Amino acid sequence: MPAKSAQRNVKKVATETRFQGIAGSPGVATGPVLLLRQNRPNIRRRPITPDQIAGELDRLEVALLRTRQQIVEAQERLASSVGKAEAAIFEAHLLVVEDPTILQGVKAQLAERLVSVESVYQDITSSLADQMLALEDDYLRERAEDIHDVSRRVLQNLRAPGEAGVDITQPSVIVADALSLTDLMATDRSRLLGFATEQGNRMSHAAIIARSLNIPAVVGLRDVVDEVENGMEVLLDGISGLLILLPGEQTKFEYGKMEERRHRVEEQLDTLRETLASTKDGHRVIVSANVELPEDFPHVSESGAEGIGLYRTEFLFINRNDFPTEEDQTEIYRKAAQTAKPHSIIIRTLDIGGDKAAQLITGDEVESNPFLGWRGIRLCLDRLDLFKVQLRAIARASTEGNVRIMFPMVSDLAEVRRAKALLAEAVAELRAEGVPVPEKIETGVMIEVPSAAMTADLLAKEVDFFSIGTNDLVQYTMAVDRLNERVSSLYQPCHPAVLRFLSRIAEEAHKSSIWAGICGEMAGDILLTPLLIGLGIDELSMGSGSVPRVKKAIQSVNYEECVALARQHLASSSHEETLRSLTEFARKTYPDLII
Ligand code: PEP
Ligand code: MG
Repeated sequence: MPAKSAQRNVKKVATETRFQGIAGSPGVATGPVLLLRQNRPNIRRRPITPDQIAGELDRLEVALLRTRQQIVEAQERLASSVGKAEAAIFEAHLLVVEDPTILQGVKAQLAERLVSVESVYQDITSSLADQMLALEDDYLRERAEDIHDVSRRVLQNLRAPGEAGVDITQPSVIVADALSLTDLMATDRSRLLGFATEQGNRMSHAAIIARSLNIPAVVGLRDVVDEVENGMEVLLDGISGLLILLPGEQTKFEYGKMEERRHRVEEQLDTLRETLASTKDGHRVIVSANVELPEDFPHVSESGAEGIGLYRTEFLFINRNDFPTEEDQTEIYRKAAQTAKPHSIIIRTLDIGGDKAAQLITGDEVESNPFLGWRGIRLCLDRLDLFKVQLRAIARASTEGNVRIMFPMVSDLAEVRRAKALLAEAVAELRAEGVPVPEKIETGVMIEVPSAAMTADLLAKEVDFFSIGTNDLVQYTMAVDRLNERVSSLYQPCHPAVLRFLSRIAEEAHKSSIWAGICGEMAGDILLTPLLIGLGIDELSMGSGSVPRVKKAIQSVNYEECVALARQHLASSSHEETLRSLTEFARKTYPDLII
C-alpha cells in the first residue's frame, strides 16, 4: 500500500469541522482521538531486560526472513501474471529488508532503549522514510513508500496472532485509515468510546461487530486521518455517519438533546420485551438475534429476541494461536444453546474467508479476490479435519434440544449434499462411541450467492430452512465489494434485482413447506421491515440492539399493506425510489422510531 498519508499535505483543522462518512454503528461518542495509521501501526512499547536483547534480535531475523520470502513469492506471482519488468519493483523492497544500516540501528537502539524490537524497528524505519520524504529527489521520495511497505510487513510478521489489538491507555475515539476485525476484537473495549475509519462500509465485519457490541462507529470517511491529531476532541455520530472535529458548544448542546430523546424512546421500547412480533392484523414474524462473541449472549434475552437466528462461529477461530478443540467448541455451543432457550439457535458452520481471514487457517496466503475465493463451505469441504470437529461439537451440543445447523456461502447443491453427508457421518461416529445425539438435527442453508438464489427450488428440497445472507447477496448480485467505500453507492439492498431474489427465495421455500428468514443487516433496518414482511420473509435475525425497534415496527403495520407495498416495489425501477417511498411510509407509520 502506498504511503499516501506521507504524501498528503498535512493541515490540521483549527475550528469545528464535519466529515461525512457512512453510519457504521449507532450511538454518539465524544472524547480524545487515538490516531492510527496502517502505515504506522500502533505498536506496544514493551520494556525488555538486557538478557532479552538476543531473543528480540532472533525474532527480528525470523520476521525478516519471512518478509523476504513473501516478497519473493509476490514477485514470482507478478512475473508470471504480468511480466518480469513489472516484477522488478520488488527489488527495491528486498533492498529495504536487507538494509544493513537499519539492522545496525536496531541493534544499537535495543541496547540503549531496552524496549521490544517492534517499536525500535518501527521508529527507525519511520524516521528513515521521513528523511527521504524531506528530500527534493523524486526517486528518493518514492523509496519512502518502499520503506513503509516493508516496515508494515515486518511488523505484521513480528506480531503473533494472539498479539493483535490497539494499545489504548485512556478512553478514546479511534480514528484510523483502516481498523481490522482482528485488531478490533483484541482491543480493550472498556476504553474504546467509538471508532472512525477511512476504509470500510456498513457491511464490513468490524462495523457488524461494533453494532453487536454497541460501540458507535463511522466508516468510509474520506481523507480524515491527516486532519486530526492524537488527543484532539471529536464527536462521533454513528447514527448520521458524521465525525465532528473540535465540536463547538452549540453542537454539543444539540447532541445532548438528541441523546435525551433517544434515551426516552429506548425506555419505551424496553416495555416490549415480553410481547410477540405480530402485525396489527395478526401476521406472526419471528424476530431473533445474531451473535458473534460469548459476550453477546446475555443481550439476546435482554433484547426480547426469540432465540438466536445466526451464531457466527468463525469468531472463535480469529486471534488464536491454536484451534479450539471439540470439547471447547461443544461447551461454547452448549452455552449458546442454553442462552437461546426456550427458543432455538441456528449455529452457522465456519465462514472464514472474505474479510474474516483467520490467519490460523489461511496462513500468509493472499487471494486476489478473497470474497470470490476460499471461503465458508468451500474451505470447510477442503479442510475436513476442522469441519468434522465442528460438526461433531455441534451435534454433541444439540442434545440441548434447540439446535439447528446452517451452512454458509453455498453456491451449489452438491456442496449441501456433501455437508449433510459429513454431518450424518459425524453423528454416526458419535453414536458408535456411545455419545448421545438427537434423532434429527434441522439443517439449513444460507442463500447469499445468486446461483443459490436461482436454484432455491432445488436447495429447498434438501433442507429444513433458508436464511438469506443479504450482506453477501447484495454484494454478489450487484458485483460490488461490501468493504469498498468507493463503490458503496452501488451497494443497494433495495435494488429491484435484490428484491426479486428475496421474493423468489421466499416463494420457493414456501412451495417446499420450509421457512425463509433473513440474517443479513437488512433484517435490522426498520425502514425495510414492512417490505420484507410483504415479500414473504418469515424470520428476521439481527444484532440484538435492533430487536426492540423492529418489533415495534412490525406491531405498527398491517400485513395486507405490507403485501401491497412489496408488490409495488417489486415493480420499482430503482433502489432510491424504493428507499424514498419506504422512508415516507415509516415516518407516517412509526414516527417515534425514526431518529
Ligand atoms: C450475510 O452475508 O448477510 C451474513 C449474515 O453473513 P456474513 O455477514 O457473516 O457474511
Ligand atoms: Mg455472508
